[in-house]
Amino acid sequence: MLKRLLLGTAAAVLAITANAQDYPTRSVTMMVPYAAGGPTDTVARVLAQAMTKPLGHTVVVENRPSAGGILGPQVIKNAKPDGYQILIHHIGMATIPSLYRNPGFNPQTDFEFIGLVNEVPMTIIGKPGLPPKDLKELLAYIKANKDKVTLANAGIGAASHLCGMLFLSAIQTDVLTVPYKGTGPAMNDLVGGQVDFMCDQTTSTTGQIKGGKVKAYGVTSSKRVASLPDIPTLEEQGLKGAEVGIWHGLYAPKGTPKPVIDKLVAALQAAMKDPGVQSKFTELGAVSFAADKQNPQALQAHLKAEIDKWGPIIKKAGVYVD
Ligand code: ASP
Repeated sequence: MLKRLLLGTAAAVLAITANAQDYPTRSVTMMVPYAAGGPTDTVARVLAQAMTKPLGHTVVVENRPSAGGILGPQVIKNAKPDGYQILIHHIGMATIPSLYRNPGFNPQTDFEFIGLVNEVPMTIIGKPGLPPKDLKELLAYIKANKDKVTLANAGIGAASHLCGMLFLSAIQTDVLTVPYKGTGPAMNDLVGGQVDFMCDQTTSTTGQIKGGKVKAYGVTSSKRVASLPDIPTLEEQGLKGAEVGIWHGLYAPKGTPKPVIDKLVAALQAAMKDPGVQSKFTELGAVSFAADKQNPQALQAHLKAEIDKWGPIIKKAGVYVD
């Protein structure tokens, strides 16, 4: 029985390796661990379209929303390692292991790395009728109404959760948080006035801020964002300790053959050179990683550095999901 199982596994590995030379012969799925319409989804759709040309087959975006974005990595960890299912994820790959006692995957050992994509600042935004005009007023308002103010996020481990957590700890106030399966649906409720405020990436907030659909109170980067020059940083408004930037990387299931990974790396690098991709990212406030970071070694090193950076901060904050 065991022998047959081992032979079967060996045959499957041989088949995948043999097919690796012709890869890809059909469409590739890029899994997004959050709902459609959110920032991760936006980055994925720009990238997937641009990777279609170098791969010669369509890259299809598939959303696997779950609070905190933990389901997508679990699915890709168990997917066939043949290059037809890949994952895009953000800083959550580095923070989830400290936030969840049992995340169901190990970001450092369960995946092959493809490369780093871009970094995206975040913005503190409020619902249209929220009374405060600026950050100073917002802080006073939150403190005065802490029993009724609500903060939206995409679940524990999401970028919006991390940013919200840092923000609340910086202002030393706790409010009720409302988790969604992505900040796409959270944004709908924010615009509709069902929740009060949120911290989310510029890749989804820029259009809403410019269109006057939400109020903006500050960016979480150390410098102002070129696409939103009128929005001051949190720090320049006197709030320290809430600086955070979100980065995206591409992953494949562990055991994906090297020739397949090489083709995916080449497709990522070609897509990142596409002027259309660059102008779209810039318009959304995202900053692409340099060409020498769009590779497996750079992603692996960055992931480890971020795990080492955020682990102690999260442990100190004492937030866990069992
Ligand atoms: N960026 C969001 C977050 O992590 C999730 C999403 O892309 O919808 O909070």
